[in-house]
Amino acid sequence: MDEYDVLVVGGGAAGLSAALVLARARRRVVVVDAGAPRNAPAAHLHGFLSRDGMAPRDLLAAGRAEVTRYGGHLVDGTVVAIEPGFRVRLAGGASLAARRVLVTTGLRDELPDIPGVAERFGRDVLHCPYCHGYEVRDQPLGVVSSPHHALLVRQWSADVLYFPHTATVTQDDRERLGARGIRVIEGKVTRIVVEGDRLRGVELDGGAVVPRAALFVGPRFVPNSSLLTSLGCAADEDGWVAVDPAGRTSVAGVWAAGNAADPRAALITAAGAGSTAAMAINADLVEDDIAAGLAAFSAAAERQVADAVLGDSHHGM
Ligand SMILES: Cc1cc2nc3c(=O)[nH]c(=O)nc-3n(C[C@H](O)[C@H](O)[C@H](O)COP(=O)(O)OP(=O)(O)OC[C@H]3O[C@@H](n4cnc5c(N)ncnc54)[C@H](O)[C@@H]3O)c2cc1C
Repeated sequence: MDEYDVLVVGGGAAGLSAALVLARARRRVVVVDAGAPRNAPAAHLHGFLSRDGMAPRDLLAAGRAEVTRYGGHLVDGTVVAIEPGFRVRLAGGASLAARRVLVTTGLRDELPDIPGVAERFGRDVLHCPYCHGYEVRDQPLGVVSSPHHALLVRQWSADVLYFPHTATVTQDDRERLGARGIRVIEGKVTRIVVEGDRLRGVELDGGAVVPRAALFVGPRFVPNSSLLTSLGCAADEDGWVAVDPAGRTSVAGVWAAGNAADPRAALITAAGAGSTAAMAINADLVEDDIAAGLAAFSAAAERQVADAVLGDSHHGM
């Protein structure tokens, strides 16, 4: 089986950025990608310098073309296991070998269990105001999350209502929200109301509908890190793997970057983390190549000495 220098699991912003740097560093690199990037539900991406307003799929198509232009390989598939050494197993039975692995599998947004939220996520049910706040600026906004999230969203509109839903709001929270003109709407949210493919409001138990144009929610971020933890990478109890500033995990030869290791990474930060990890991996391989060269050199020297000794003993006979 052919061995790659680096196998990248996940072809989002982090993985493709890493693969581009590695391919340009003349490494044999392959990206295995399952094709489900986190921001797929959004029509446009924002905040990525020079790419603002682009469709998420267009960013990835451009990245994939750049990787292949430098000889990087792309494989559509799902990695199911990484074995030490490294042998990487794909769903369907294929396997690939690599000297180093970089895991950029992203995270899963676990949404609040409110009917309608999952269907509208990335459209008019949002999470990140830096990604989509500008697009709903000055509109009537709701926040079903933490008071802190509501205070942040207030930066984009003067009309923000906070729905604690099932959370408790402290007196301190109420004062801080009040100081920014954010009203607290008590009651459990039973569903979001959609008409004509647009969010119209938030329904509370009792049936009242509070009109809103967009709703911000606070998903629980769950890292897609099982490949890493199965390999023995140190992680906290929620599955977040420990990495150094270059993405190196506690297991030699294994790196992680992007949302798989950092829930706060936006697209441009994930791409940057992938690039940083790629340079560190290349440096690690440079050291590996030096060590292999030195080992070959001393083996050859030992052989020469042995041959010379043998030659002397033959002459002596
Ligand atoms: C609705 C929404 C909108 C967003 N909008 C923006 C925005 O406008 N601007 C912005 O900066 N950020 C935005 N974000 C955040 C952005 O999505 C992330 O910052 C970014 O996707 C992180 O990149 P990544 O490469 O780490 O992970 P991802 O982009 O999620 O890529 C991970 C890839 O790994 C693949 N994968 C996972 N497991 C496996 C496996 N076992 N085998 C093979 N492949 C696998 C996945 O299929 C996926 O293709 C948004 C997020 C959401 C939820």
